[in-house]
Amino acid sequence: MQHVPDAAIGSVLVSWYQKNKRALPWRQRFLESGDPYVIWISEIMLQQTTIQAVLPAYERFLGIFPRLHDLAAASEEAVRLACRGLGYYRRFRLMHEAAQVLAAREPFHWPRTFKDWRELPGIGDYTAAAISSIAFGEAKAVVDGNVERVFCRLLDRRVVPDQKLKREFQAMGDLLIPAAAPADYNQAVMELGQTICIKQNPRCEICPIQNFCKAYAAGSQNLAPAPRKPMEYEDVKMHLWLLIKGGKVGLVERSKGARFLGGTLGLPTALEHDGQLRWEQDGPWNFEPDSVGSFKHSITRHKIQAFVHQREWLGASSRDITWVPLHEAESQLVSNLDRKALHLFLKISDRHP
Ligand code: SF4
Repeated sequence: MQHVPDAAIGSVLVSWYQKNKRALPWRQRFLESGDPYVIWISEIMLQQTTIQAVLPAYERFLGIFPRLHDLAAASEEAVRLACRGLGYYRRFRLMHEAAQVLAAREPFHWPRTFKDWRELPGIGDYTAAAISSIAFGEAKAVVDGNVERVFCRLLDRRVVPDQKLKREFQAMGDLLIPAAAPADYNQAVMELGQTICIKQNPRCEICPIQNFCKAYAAGSQNLAPAPRKPMEYEDVKMHLWLLIKGGKVGLVERSKGARFLGGTLGLPTALEHDGQLRWEQDGPWNFEPDSVGSFKHSITRHKIQAFVHQREWLGASSRDITWVPLHEAESQLVSNLDRKALHLFLKISDRHP
């Protein structure tokens, strides 16, 4: 490690956090219940998702599954529905799997340490450090993109963070974290990165660790860290069908190996490549595209042009299609992509569910 900043930073951050922390529902719930479950759920939901998007989903989820054993006993589909709109479903599938592993323990006991949490499905270094410190007081520092940015600026490191730097920052965080207040330190450094040491134009004038910051002293806050190469997007053409039978819409389960949203219940979907359609659920399907409208949508690094089609279903009933009254369809659709297609269809066809 090239340079370890003043160890006093840890206690300065803790004092700042204790005076300025935001009233977030998972903090309040943990304070009241002491249940690690409420911290774990928040940490999984917050992965790659903004706090604003998580807030309503978090309350809804805990209303449906208030305790670990409720989640473990739920069906995969019920879990997907409870997490709808948050994207990146794999993390919720793994969370459900981890809940089942934990609920099967006889006698039941929570993992307590970073190492124990790390062994569960879907729990990486960051999440294991966050839960074991916040819920069990282990002095293990969190390092995520926000923390990397704060540390790069503290040390004026004008580089793109890589794995080697991440390891250095983990060691640095583990030195800075005060043994007496690991939960507050970790939440402080995350909150500093989210609210003060933000990507563009950090708010140095109100930063509690300004005196320690080399980038502030050099005026190079916007150079550290160096920007990553912009993400390269892939264009995708997708077709979604609104199958209508009476006042109902037909939903199908996408194949587990579908390229997008595998295993979700949604609208029949095909991807177009070189003029050919490739179906995202088991067939056979032989619809011709006849678009009523289109919209744009992004999933990770894919820019999707989605074409919406309508088709009256005149065929025999099929056990592969779930018919849902139009007014209930919204609540059955897990992904934003399907919901956007449904809204477009309702608007264009002037149907009122
Ligand atoms: S002084 Fe500015 S650049 Fe340095 S840590 Fe604080 S907010 Fe970030």
